[in-house]
This record gives sequence, structure tokens and C-alpha cells, in this order.
Amino acid sequence: MNLYGDRGNVIALSRRAEWRGIEVGLTAVGLGEAVDFTAFDILFMGGGQDKEQRLICEDFQRVKGGALAEAVEDGVPFLAICGGYQLLGRFYETGTGERLPGIGILDVETRAGRKRMIGNVVAGSLLAGQETRTLVGFENHSGRTYLGPGVRPLAEVLVGHGNNGEDGTEGAVYRNVVGTYLHGSVLPKNPWLADWLIRRAVVRRYGEGVTLPPLDDRVETEAHAAAVAHAVEVARRHRTPVRRRRLRAVVGGRLGSRRGSR
Ligand code: GLN
Repeated sequence: MNLYGDRGNVIALSRRAEWRGIEVGLTAVGLGEAVDFTAFDILFMGGGQDKEQRLICEDFQRVKGGALAEAVEDGVPFLAICGGYQLLGRFYETGTGERLPGIGILDVETRAGRKRMIGNVVAGSLLAGQETRTLVGFENHSGRTYLGPGVRPLAEVLVGHGNNGEDGTEGAVYRNVVGTYLHGSVLPKNPWLADWLIRRAVVRRYGEGVTLPPLDDRVETEAHAAAVAHAVEVARRHRTPVRRRRLRAVVGGRLGSRRGSR
């Protein structure tokens, strides 16, 4: 599936690998195709509406579910966005009460709510170590996702709704699987997350000793900061929830200087 530029994530992963001299091959996997997913280094799945999700759901139940679970247990990094994220969970219950079973790789459950959660998101994540990194993206979903004990949240919401608009969590992580509501595309704007996935992939093949050479990310860093500043500014006008104190604690200083420079 692919919504709101999700496919841009594939481009970001490919380029950031190639810029480091890592050869990249891409394989699009279609409905009904049985695949050994352990043969791949990174898996990606974008978002989609209920109609597409229904097709994927059937395919997952009949064809791909077991192979995907096997790859995840084998440590294959997997990024899934929104509708894709929901189908990696236990189920997605649509607005009409139809329950689409997921493959339960992620211990999460999703039920559609009445109100769509739409807008920019800024979140703070500890995925890549002890320093909080910001994630910025765009969400548009009616599904409310609740996390079970088998996963940890990807991030805490600073601006926007995230998983369910209630508990302040965004996304879910299990082994090297990252589920998130962030479209946008999320990886070009948040290169640290792209690098986390690439590093996990390289470590799976060659062991923990591997480090990724840093890239010149001046443009990406600027784009990220601009997107964060924009999200905060728009939130003020659109009554998007903002957790002000946490936002200030995580991005306060950086935001101030950004606004000053524009
Ligand atoms: N149909 C799902 C929802 O609205 C997913 C939408 C999406 O992927 N943007 O919750």
C-alpha cells in the first residue's frame, strides 16, 4: 500500500544506503505472491484505506502472514505505516464494525473512531539511544491503536494525536519492526530513523561491530527543523493537541533559534 508519499521511504532508504556504497536491490511484492521474507534486508509497507486493507488482510491470512512473522523473528527490519501498521497488529475494526484480522506481529489493537485524526505530528523517540530524537510527519487515520505489553511505543507525542489521541504514544516497536502513523514521507524528513533501519539490516548480516559512515545531512536537518517549526505553528491555528511542556523540553531551544532565523 502507499498513501501520502509513503513510497518516498523506499527512495530514502535506497539513497542513504547507496551513498554509503551499499548496493541496493528493490523487489515489489504483490497480492497472492508467496515469498521468503527472511531473504530480504528491509521490509516496507505503506498505508491504505479500508478497501485496500481488506485485500491485504486476506492475503496476509492466506499467503504471507507466516512468512512475515518468520522474518520478523529472524530480525529483519520492517517499517509499516498507518494502514500497514494496523495490519501488523491483532486486528483493525472498521467504522462499520467489520473486524479485519491482522497477523499479530505487533501486540496492538485498532478500532476506528468517529473522528479522523488529521494533521502534523511531532514526537520524541528514544529508539536510537539515550538522546531523544524528534520525528515529524503527517497523520490521517480514524483508527485508534492501543498497545499491549508485547510492544513498546516508538515515541511520545508532542504535537498531534499519534496512536489514539489519548495516551500520548505514537507508533510501536517490536524487535526490528517499527509501526507508525507518520506519513509524509517519514524517512526523508527523519533520516535518523532511516539510518536506524539500515543499521539494523547491516548488523543482522554482519554483526554488531558495524558502524554506518555519517552523511552530510545539512539539507535533511534543515528540512526536519522547518517541518517541526511548521507543525508547531499550524497546530496553534488548527486546535491540534500540543503537549507544550514536553515540546518545550524536547525541542524548545532548537525551535526558538529556527523561528528567529525565518
Ligand atoms: N484506514 C485506516 C484508518 O483510517 C488507515 C488509513 C491510512 O493508512 N492513512 O485508520
